[in-house]
Amino acid sequence: MHTLAERLRREIRNVPDFPKPGIQFKDITTVLKQGPLFREVADALYAQWSAERIDKVVAIESRGFIYGAVLAYRLGAGFVMARKRGKLPAQTVSMEYALEYGTDTVEIHADAIQPGERVLVHDDVIATGGTAQATVALVEKMGATVVGCSFLVELGELRGRDRLSGYRVTSLVTF
Ligand code: AMP
Repeated sequence: MHTLAERLRREIRNVPDFPKPGIQFKDITTVLKQGPLFREVADALYAQWSAERIDKVVAIESRGFIYGAVLAYRLGAGFVMARKRGKLPAQTVSMEYALEYGTDTVEIHADAIQPGERVLVHDDVIATGGTAQATVALVEKMGATVVGCSFLVELGELRGRDRLSGYRVTSLVTF
């Protein structure tokens, strides 16, 4: 018998040098396409947060939307998209964050989260944690409470978890 983490370690495809040289891209499409495994991952992600009262799942563009939506469904929570600049059509609130070179911006619809709501942040992969950290900061700027952060994959060496200290952070497999 292999644990889910062991199977994910084997099934998630590593694509070297994508999208640029030196990056080891963790491709979850090899998991998504397998019916039983797709469901098992959904159930495991849900189990990590099922004891919490969560009003909204804020999912990070774009692969975070996949299990973010499943998590919202299972938790009985609303689903909110955190997107790159200029993608959301209505009024937004935004948070800028530093990249290795330059900056990026994450946006959420201004009416998507109410003050006092309990929010779970979700993405497929946590690498440096910069995107998740900015999303957490944005949710808090909107007056909501971040209950924690859920990821499928954690890249341990990049220590993204350290940027989310003080929050409960979960993942299903660490590379
Ligand atoms: P981060 O460095 O944690 O801010 O990651 C930025 C975004 O890129 C997140 O949405 C991650 O899901 C994605 N990402 C970063 N590194 C990888 C990687 N090696 N494989 C797959 N996705 C990645």
